[in-house]
Amino acid sequence: MRNERGQIYLDYNATTPVDSRVVDTMQTYWSENFGNPSSDLHSWGWNANFAVQDSRKKIAALLKCGASEIYFASGATEANNWVFHSLLQNKILSEVHIIASSVEHDSVRNTLLHWQKQGVQVDFVRVNSEGLLDLQDLKSKIRTNTRLISVIFGQNEIGTLQNISEISRFARERDILFHSDATQVVGKMEFDISDFDFLSFSSHKLYGPKGIGALYAHAKTTSLLPMILGGQQESGLRSGTEPVPQIVGFGKACELCAQELPSENSRLALLGKLLRKALLDKIPDLKLNGSLENRLPTNLHLTLPKIQRDVFLKKLSGLGISSSSACHSSSGISSTLSALGFSAEAAERSFRLSWGRFTDEGQILEAAEILANAWKASV
Ligand code: PMP
Repeated sequence: MRNERGQIYLDYNATTPVDSRVVDTMQTYWSENFGNPSSDLHSWGWNANFAVQDSRKKIAALLKCGASEIYFASGATEANNWVFHSLLQNKILSEVHIIASSVEHDSVRNTLLHWQKQGVQVDFVRVNSEGLLDLQDLKSKIRTNTRLISVIFGQNEIGTLQNISEISRFARERDILFHSDATQVVGKMEFDISDFDFLSFSSHKLYGPKGIGALYAHAKTTSLLPMILGGQQESGLRSGTEPVPQIVGFGKACELCAQELPSENSRLALLGKLLRKALLDKIPDLKLNGSLENRLPTNLHLTLPKIQRDVFLKKLSGLGISSSSACHSSSGISSTLSALGFSAEAAERSFRLSWGRFTDEGQILEAAEILANAWKASV
């Protein structure tokens, strides 16, 4: 993906371009099929309702779960909030203990810090230098009143993938609910949905529109409670007229991911290898962060040897990359890099490159060249 100035977009973990096939599918739901899905006396309403349910089925097909286990939300932030809200509603807050990893996205971390201030017992589990959860530390933090373990699946900054099946088994053996923020994984990798009680994800990370996401809630193990009250949408669990065009786009985006995932996966992993090799060849002492074995196929997080940051960034104008996660770009070192032991100075020299469906080999090689030249100019 390039813009009109020829700049190369390598910030897919922040957001992905909307696939033109998704845009085409959404088109008719703005001013032609504009009905309210709750209008049950005419075809405008029936068509809109059909479209919402059809999208739910497409999303469920990607996850290999039941359509009734998918609940629409405005994005992964809301889905994450929804899990904790459901768990804590009608409870004596000080009696509930929740455990999360120390590398959660802010939408989990800050939400839990909020609940902690309200009296909920919250613990964050250590990770090792690669960002992998320390199972011994997890074990030591379990209490008799631990109700939920929440662990991010694919870390949005450093790209580390957690050993989800092992953590899920650990939680299940102790009768503890297991939630994962899988925003960076859904649509990009195969996984086993039976590992989860709750799973949050978002349309704009998988080539769909922004402003829509979903929460998977396992029908047998979870009881979801409403965070937004009002009408009967989403079985009375999330009121408000459904954003039909976004839902249709999200459904189409999931359908495309399901179709293309097997062939795309190996292509994207190859691009990653190419980028890694090109950068390591060009930049001596380059440090790659996160686990090299267990990682998202579309993310590289690196720390450059000493640079003059302002010079480097000026020379980098041909590339769209991230200095951390998009959510942190103005507020200094992120909690994830802190958890990995980064100093503020090392964090300043650290960058995330992430690629996807519209990235090709030529863009990857050119990006490596631009980055290496910018580094040379800035030392
Ligand atoms: N979790 C992760 C891991 C993310 O990368 C993001 C997006 N930066 C979110 C949650 C928030 O998603 P949304 O923008 O859909 O609220």
